[in-house]
Amino acid sequence: MSLQVIGDPVLHSKSPALHGAMLSALGLDIPYDARTVRRGELPEYLTWAEEHGVTGFNATMPHKEDVLPLLDEIHPAAAAVGSVNTVCLRRGRWVGFSTDGTGALAALRDGLGFDPAGACVTLLGAGGAAKAAALALADAGAARVFVCNRTLDRARQLCALAPSGRLVPAGLEGGTLARCAAQSSLLVNCTSLGMEGCPGQFEAFDFLDKLPHGAAVFDLIYHPAQTQLLAQAQRRGLPAMNGLPMLVWQAVLALEHFLGRPLDRKAMAAAATAALNEI
Ligand code: NAP
Repeated sequence: MSLQVIGDPVLHSKSPALHGAMLSALGLDIPYDARTVRRGELPEYLTWAEEHGVTGFNATMPHKEDVLPLLDEIHPAAAAVGSVNTVCLRRGRWVGFSTDGTGALAALRDGLGFDPAGACVTLLGAGGAAKAAALALADAGAARVFVCNRTLDRARQLCALAPSGRLVPAGLEGGTLARCAAQSSLLVNCTSLGMEGCPGQFEAFDFLDKLPHGAAVFDLIYHPAQTQLLAQAQRRGLPAMNGLPMLVWQAVLALEHFLGRPLDRKAMAAAATAALNEI
């Protein structure tokens, strides 16, 4: 039995360190390594993996959507998001899961004490990560999630995925953000604005002033560890968290799928976090 993370590029991935630390904390001698798989090479990879005893893998760019039609079964939450990050071989069948949304929720609960039930959230972005986070928040009972995106059409498409009406599309202009923030107990950045190596930055942070007292800010970005958004939130005394806890929690939940049993999640998250701090 062995586990992998596949993608292109993938050699920078923190998954081997995270999973290695959790497996070793469990006393399990199961190798987990990174393998470069280029776009279009997935069918060959699946055959190779089965022949070489790979019983599960994490999928990263560019495979999270491309792998869907090659799977034998897709967990409903992953099907709703339209992407998987965790694939397990179960009795000869490849089964896909997504732990991005549930990982974000677990990080919010553990790191910020945030309870989505009945909450109103301003979520920036409408890409893959935004989709997973928005659907997970709606599923966990958030009363309203404003999905604010530069390309409004993309926000509309995302919101149409949750017919409950809990997801509300909006633009990313300062005035719109201010109006949404004023009603929200959480602001989540799921855009790549502020990410190292990505062009673009928020033009202003005035919308943070509109957040009610006690509201929190969660930036999915973890490189850099402190984005300008997080620095501005902290200057205003708002509880703020970067994307590392989400990275940790999605790995904890992925490992439960790989091993097919519940784990002591807190202990696993602690082992994974300690490994991240050593990188
Ligand atoms: P994606 O699918 O490419 O989506 C990118 C989003 O950013 C889109 O909403 C896009 O808006 C917006 N955007 C990009 N440049 C912009 C600009 N100059 N101005 C305004 N909006 C802009 O990417 P993703 O996979 O969702 O990832 C988004 C972020 O989340 C990345 O920083 C990634 O590192 C982070 N992430 C973190 C974790 C974690 O575990 N912590 C997991 C997944 C992702 P348009 O639709 O208008 O283009």
